[in-house]
Amino acid sequence: MTRPHMHKPAWQGTDWRKAMDLAHSAPRCTARCKHSKLPCKAPAVKQWTVCRKHGARGGGPMGERNGAYRHGRCTIEAKALEAAARAERRETMALVTALLKSLA
Ligand SMILES: [Zn+2]
Repeated sequence: MTRPHMHKPAWQGTDWRKAMDLAHSAPRCTARCKHSKLPCKAPAVKQWTVCRKHGARGGGPMGERNGAYRHGRCTIEAKALEAAARAERRETMALVTALLKSLA
């Protein structure tokens, strides 16, 4: 039985070959086996790059829902913004240096 709020599956039918093709085309886990050093190859959990055995859905909640959250300075977004600003500053300084060198 399907409930109205549940999303529609990617494919619905009785041909198991089609279902298996769809299952095998799922994104794969990017982790490597500690022992053999081979890729994991298990299907990755939705919106993750790793499978359930390699840490998907692990860890605490993100952002303000996390108990250690204080001001947002250390969130992924804030760090990305800081890195972008740093890169821009570096680029500007390189331009200024090149300009000063050309004038001298
Ligand atoms: Zn895995």
